This record gives sequence, structure tokens and C-alpha cells, in this order.
Amino acid sequence: MTEVTVAGVRVDTRHWIGGERVGSSDTFTDVSPIDGTVIGEIARAGRAEADAAVAAARAAFPAWAATTPAERARLLHAIADGVEARLAELAIVETTDNGALLRSHLRGVMPRVAHNFRFFADWLSGQLRHDDFDTRGHDNHVSWDAAGPCVLITPWNAPLMLATWKIAPALAAGNTVVLKAAEWTPLTASLLADITAEAGLPAGVFNVVQGYGEEVGAALTAHPDVRRISFTGSVPTARHIGAAAAANLTPVGLELGGKSPLLVFADADLELAVELAVEQYDNAGQVCLAATRLLVDASVAAEFTTRFLARARTLVQGDPRDPVTDVGPNIHAEHVDRVDGFVRRALDAGAKALLGGGRNTELGGLYYRPTLLTDVAQDGEIVQEEVFGPVLTLQTFTTEAEAIRLANDTRFGLAATLVTGDRERAKRVGAELVAGTLWVNCFFVRDLRAPFGGSRQSGVGREGGTWSFDFYCDVKNTVTAPNGWH
Ligand code: NAD
Repeated sequence: MTEVTVAGVRVDTRHWIGGERVGSSDTFTDVSPIDGTVIGEIARAGRAEADAAVAAARAAFPAWAATTPAERARLLHAIADGVEARLAELAIVETTDNGALLRSHLRGVMPRVAHNFRFFADWLSGQLRHDDFDTRGHDNHVSWDAAGPCVLITPWNAPLMLATWKIAPALAAGNTVVLKAAEWTPLTASLLADITAEAGLPAGVFNVVQGYGEEVGAALTAHPDVRRISFTGSVPTARHIGAAAAANLTPVGLELGGKSPLLVFADADLELAVELAVEQYDNAGQVCLAATRLLVDASVAAEFTTRFLARARTLVQGDPRDPVTDVGPNIHAEHVDRVDGFVRRALDAGAKALLGGGRNTELGGLYYRPTLLTDVAQDGEIVQEEVFGPVLTLQTFTTEAEAIRLANDTRFGLAATLVTGDRERAKRVGAELVAGTLWVNCFFVRDLRAPFGGSRQSGVGREGGTWSFDFYCDVKNTVTAPNGWH
């Protein structure tokens, strides 16, 4: 079998290598988290397919790198057009595969996928420049040159959005790409391959291999012909990838996990603070930058908690295809066990569940109730480790210094959210917080011009605007003397 049909959409289950569909003798089973039904068997790549995909990307590189930025931009806009034309299909396929809300895919995620292509196409031709400068009469000119074949490895929580955030700048810069989608969500990567072919992207410029991280992922990241590796995923996997990249000194970008704080000061608009806090259950808590640690000034904690619980109890949990649903399933049974394990151990250690605290058994094993835990210790696992489920902790503080200390006291540094009515406090506290992104009185306001990435163990490097091109290019400075000309 070489394809599956999902909600009427045909999806090829084979790899896309050198402009052709390629199968494997092995397969793995793709299951929908909505109801645990089997979607189908997907080709399972190993070293041979990894080698073939890198060889195809290498062969296509010289001609693609030699195209003009305007020609590449034209093709990336054509891909964006294809994404927009198939937006509803991409949305339902992604929802079936990863369980995130259909309405979010339709309104936010898939339009952002198209925007990723348009943004980086335009940024390359319009914004990517550095003013020339003079050194004793010599002209310095900075340019961004294509680096070569790039391996991109992505997770399942926002599969196509995260993948295209990497694919678009890599291609715009003149590189060729091998994408390894997450094994839990292989489908939209395959549809994207169709879209790139329909847009006229030359064979071998974009390749997709499906399969397990430890198999084809490991083979790709250890490949000596790869010039860049960009990874979004967990810290333990990042360590493997970093080690593989080190052997070849391949530059690697890492977007990893987090345990971000949301600080609510006594002078905050509590209604706003509650809305921002409840938003952290989005995507069933499977969001890298989710502010899962609520840190609230003790003087307003009782009022905040009462209002938070009232609001959180209005969240509708259910089928992510239903427009009224706010919280869907988690990705797979093992992951739900892991989420539940964190909660059980926290409760055993003395935590109290003010909300949730277990599976929503009426909906089946993959739906975990939005949970709020209090009476947690700062050095406890539930405060220090990323759960990646709908589980928040609530702690209080009495001084600004204590708030900052608690906020910064994990090994992560992806994001922080600050709710306060005092501008001076926002500046003062914000300056002390360790985070790649700081939101003040807002959350998840994103712009592709901005750098995104993590401090500490939340990552290495930044994505967005010029930062993406700094990673996907060999940046060159050309110094030209005023003399020596005929
Ligand atoms: P994961 O690390 O288990 O898997 C991510 C990808 O890595 C998958 O495609 C997987 O197949 C591959 N992989 C696994 N082992 C590999 C190996 N040895 N070599 C090469 N590739 C390998 O992560 P996940 O469970 O899919 O995703 C959840 C994690 O991703 C969370 O920690 C989350 O915070 C993080 N994340 C970070 C961001 C960000 O932008 N910072 C965004 C989304 C998710």
C-alpha cells in the first residue's frame, strides 16, 4: 500500500527523494490520537534511504544555489499558493494525525505555514543586507552564501508549522533540504512534497524521509555531506544530535523544551492574568513555550485562583474536529502515561490538585484533564521538568526578588510571561528574567522578523528574520582594496 486516505484526502505514505516517490521494505503504523484508530502503514527509512536523500540533495545543490534570489522567491511564493489552495486539506490531515484543534489549524497554523514561505522569500530579496563599511579606504561587503544540503528534524506537536519555519529560509538561501518528520505525524510532510512538486521546485531540492529518529534520524545527522542540521524537539534527543554533528563539525541549531514561568504581580489586571494562564492549556499543553509555572503574588493568589478555576472549568474537552472544543487529546498512550506519571509522583510528594489530576476517562485514554497543582516544592520534579501535557503548577511569592529567583530557577530559558500594571516593574523584572522571548501583559504574539529560541537548555541559536539566514548560510565578508585596478 502506498497511500492512505484521511477525511477524503489522499496522502502518499512513501518518502520523497530526488523528485520521486520511494518506498521501504519496512513500515511503521500511524495512529490518530483522536480515537486511537489506525491511519495506515508508513514507509520506514533506514541508512540506505538517508544516504539516497542526502545524495539527491547534494546533486541538486549547485544548480539550485546558482538560481537568482528572485527565481527562488517566485517558487517559494508558488509553494505558499499551493499551501493556501490546499489549506482545508492540510488542516484536517494534521488534526487527524496530531490531535490539535481543527479550528486552530484552519485559522492560525496553516495560514502561518504559507506565510513562512512568503516571509523568507521576501526577506531574502528585501531585508537581508548589511551596510558596507570602510577600513582605511577598503570596502567591506557582507554576503550570505548558500551552505549546502540541510537536514531538518522536527517534532509532532506543530509538525508542518515548525518544519516550514526551517524549510523556507533554508530553500530561500539556496540550500537543498532533507526533512525527517516526526514518526507520530508523518502525513502533512508528504502533502508538502506534493505541493512543492506542483509548484515546480526542481527534483532533489526538497526531500522527505519518514521513519524513526534513532534509525533514519541518526543516519542523517551523522552524514558527512550535510552542511547544516536544524532540530526542534526534546533535550535528550538534542544531546544525541549534538554528538552526531560534532563528529563532522556540522553546524547545528537546536530549539528545545521549556518550563516557562508566568508571573502575576499584585498590580496586574487579574482578568487578563487569568486569561493568559488558562491559555496555557492550548494544544493540550503540548507547546514548547507554554508558561506551565504560574507564579502569583501571595496577596492576590486566593482571588486569582478562584477566578482561574472558574474560567478553566468552562473549557470544553473533546474531539479536536469539533469547533466548540478547547482541549483535545494528547499525542499517544505512552505520552499520556508519562504525563500522568509526573502528576502521580507530584501528588505522592504532597502536591494538591485544585483542578483535574487524571485522565478524562469519559473520552478515552488519550484525553488528560486540564490540571492545576499547588503545594509543590521548587526543587520538585513537577516544577523542574517539562511535562508537555495540560498540567500547570501554582506557586506564590511575596517579593519581586523572590519572583525572579523562582522564575529563573530551572535549567530552561525559552520564554517568560509577565503580568503587571507597572511599566517600571516590567522593565526591572524583565531585565532579570532568563528567556529567549519575554511577553509583557500578552502571550504568543509572534512575528517572523523576531528572533525565537531558547537560553540555557532550551536551545542553541535563534530562528526568524536575519537569524535564520545567519544559520542557513555561509556568511562571507569581502574586503576590496581601493587600488590594484587597471
Ligand atoms: P523528540 O526529541 O522525541 O523528537 C523530535 C524529533 O527527533 C522526531 O522527529 C524524532 O524522530 C527525532 N529523533 C529522535 N531521536 C533521534 C536521534 N537519535 N537522531 C535524530 N533524530 C531523532 O521530541 P518530541 O517528543 O517529538 O517533541 C517534544 C519536544 O519538542 C518537547 O521537549 C518540546 O518542548 C520540544 N519543542 C520545542 C520547540 C521549540 O521551538 N523550542 C517547539 C516544539 C517542540
